[in-house]
Amino acid sequence: MAKRNVIEPFPIKDIFNKLTIEDLDLKGKRVFIRADFNVPLDDNLMITDDRRIRSTLPTINYAIDEGAKVILSSHLGRPKGKKDPRLSLAPVAKRLQRLLNKEIIFAPDCIGSQAKGLVSKMKEGDVLLLENPRFHVEEEENNEDFARALSSLADVYVNDAFGATHRVHASIVGVPKFLPSAAGFLLKKEIEYLKGMACNPVKPFVVILGGAKVSGKIGVLENLINKVDKVLVGGGMAYTFIKAIGDEIGNSLVEEDMLETAQRIREKLKGVGVKFYLPVDCVIAQGIEPGTETKIVPTLEIPKGWRALDIGPATVKLFSEAIQDAKTILWNGPMGVFEIDAFSRGTFAIARAVADAYALTIVGGGDTDLAVHRAGVSDAISFISTGGGAALQLLEGKELPGVAVLTDRDEGIVRD
Ligand code: AMP
Repeated sequence: MAKRNVIEPFPIKDIFNKLTIEDLDLKGKRVFIRADFNVPLDDNLMITDDRRIRSTLPTINYAIDEGAKVILSSHLGRPKGKKDPRLSLAPVAKRLQRLLNKEIIFAPDCIGSQAKGLVSKMKEGDVLLLENPRFHVEEEENNEDFARALSSLADVYVNDAFGATHRVHASIVGVPKFLPSAAGFLLKKEIEYLKGMACNPVKPFVVILGGAKVSGKIGVLENLINKVDKVLVGGGMAYTFIKAIGDEIGNSLVEEDMLETAQRIREKLKGVGVKFYLPVDCVIAQGIEPGTETKIVPTLEIPKGWRALDIGPATVKLFSEAIQDAKTILWNGPMGVFEIDAFSRGTFAIARAVADAYALTIVGGGDTDLAVHRAGVSDAISFISTGGGAALQLLEGKELPGVAVLTDRDEGIVRD
């Protein structure tokens, strides 16, 4: 299936007043590119999914072609300020070597004399990868001296680490304070789609939300309240909305402290004419483990001791019909516990329905990304965000700390 892009990306200049990599003169410059190479590794330290690395290749290749000395930095996992060989960037260096088809110089520490020495020997077009900055406790503390030490390796800074741009860490917000700084192609694209297209949608605009918790996603609904035409809620979070109306939900997931908020937002949406859809039927079980007995029941008939773990076929039909006239669709969060086969059908059916819609389709959040890949429809989605928390913050209308610190466009273009 060919990738479909029925609508041109939103003009970036209307929503983003920061420099981008194309505004910088990179020739002969040491360019610090903060990427998000936080990839999953198996027990043998083999990378099981390298999409995060691939998503930054356009920025890296551009910098190489422009004659930059490319210094790459990324966190991996949560080493909590201590050196941990299991969270070394060494496997990423190997994979980059293969993907770029060129030698990658690896600096075994991100600061210090060895890193400085390796950088000083770099020639135009060389690529160096720094070891995990989170091996230093100062990274997550956003320590100024640590940021200064990182920045001393480079002449300019480029942020392409969208998935980490909501973090107030030294390599995200500290380093750009010391250097001219710009957004890379991935960061720019994420902002174009999430802040541009989703926050200024071509209507009708349908938002599909799922996943476990209402609390993580309510901010998105609050921000999009005057933009959205239909809201479809599935996944575990639907049952907090259903219980808030006073209906029985058996042992289904519920956030007791969100009941009032759920009801308030639903009424607010209804008040401005937004159509709000909840599951009408569901797949239920007594336990979540694979092989457990399941039944399909109307949502209002979940027996005591049973819990809803997926949307049922009637809901799939209802939701699929509801998105048919959409021009823009935003989907965040699975419709059920899709990690287990017995509860995955609803999520995959919605993935197919979103992929089939003649609309600009934007998918966000790690689980939803995985779901569209597992459903085999990722190529038919207009844009799949690489960020979870960062994507939600943008959709909530908040500025990302790592974007706020980049050089303002009106501070001048560094390029001739
Ligand atoms: P979130 O991070 O909030 O998007 O939640 C994603 C998780 O929600 C996935 O791991 C799903 O297994 C889980 N989930 C989806 N639907 C349900 C449900 N009905 N009950 C319990 N967990 C669910």
